[in-house]
Amino acid sequence: MRKFKINKLHFSISLLVGIALIAIPVSSILVRSHSAIKANKESVVTVEAIVQNSEVSPSPTEIPEKTPETQSSVITPPVNNQPTTNLPANNNVNNSDTISTFVKNGTIVYSGATLKTQIALTFDDGPDNNYTVKILDILKQNNIKATFFVVGRNAKTYPNVIKRIENEGHIIGSHTYNHADLNRLTPDQVRAEMLDTEAILDSIVGHHLPIIRPPYGHNSVEATKTISDMGYKIIDWSVDTQDWAGTPPSKIMEYVLKDTRSGSIILHHCSPGKLGLENTINVLPTEISTLKSKGYQFVTVPELLNKN
Ligand SMILES: [Zn+2]
Repeated sequence: MRKFKINKLHFSISLLVGIALIAIPVSSILVRSHSAIKANKESVVTVEAIVQNSEVSPSPTEIPEKTPETQSSVITPPVNNQPTTNLPANNNVNNSDTISTFVKNGTIVYSGATLKTQIALTFDDGPDNNYTVKILDILKQNNIKATFFVVGRNAKTYPNVIKRIENEGHIIGSHTYNHADLNRLTPDQVRAEMLDTEAILDSIVGHHLPIIRPPYGHNSVEATKTISDMGYKIIDWSVDTQDWAGTPPSKIMEYVLKDTRSGSIILHHCSPGKLGLENTINVLPTEISTLKSKGYQFVTVPELLNKN
C-alpha cells in the first residue's frame, strides 16, 4: 500500500513535470505567433497612433508617420528638416553614407524650392474605393493635381481607382507593396517591396515613377541606399496634417496654416485606419480654397521639384 502510494506520488509528479515541459514551450510558441500575427496585421492608424502618443514634439512639422514600438527610442524625430538618423544594427553601409548625405544630394526630399509659391498635396496608403474616390472628386472640383503614394497590394485590389488617379492627371508614387517598415527589412526584401509595387503599377497603368514615400517615414541609411541604387527619390513631407489620427478639421487647418510655405509638401492619407478619414474629406475643400486665397498654386511632387 505504502509502495503504491509512493508510486502514485511519483506518477503524479512525473505527470505534472511532463505537462509543464510540454505546456511551457507550446504557450511561448502561441504567444510568439500571436505577436507575429498582431505585427503582420498592423493597422496604419494603430501603429502610427502608438508613435504619435509616444512622441513629444513642439512642432507638427516634420513628424513623419513614425512608428514604432521597438524603434522609437533610437529615432531622432526630424525637426526643421533634420532627417531621421537611426542606423540599422546590421548594415554594411559605408560609414561615409549618412542620411544628411542623401538629403544633400537630393535623394531624400522634404520640400521643394521656396522661390515659387507652389505646394504639393500628397495622399498616402491608398487607394481604397471610398476616401480616395471622394478625394479625387474634390481635386477635380478644384481643378488641381496631387500626388498619391500608393500601397502595391491596395493598387492590386483597386486597379480602377489607380486608373482614375492616372487618367485625371495626378501622380502615382510608391508606398511599398505591403506598407512595409523598410528599416526592418534586408536590402533584398526592400528591393522586393519596390519591384512588386512597380510590377502592379506597370500592369495597371503601364508605367511607374521612381518616387517613394517610405511608410512611417522610415528610411535608414541602408534602406535609403538600396532605394537610391534603384534610381528612386525618397519624398518625405514638411507639413503633417496628422489626419490619420482622427485630428479634427480645425486642428488640421491649424497645422496647415502654421507650416505651409512655398515649396511645402503636405501629408494627407486616403486609406482609412480605425479612425477613418472623414475629417480629411471635410477639411480638404476649405484647406484648398484657403491656401489658394493665400496665393499658393497646387502642383504634383515632380512639378514641385522641377527646378526649371
Ligand atoms: Zn503610410
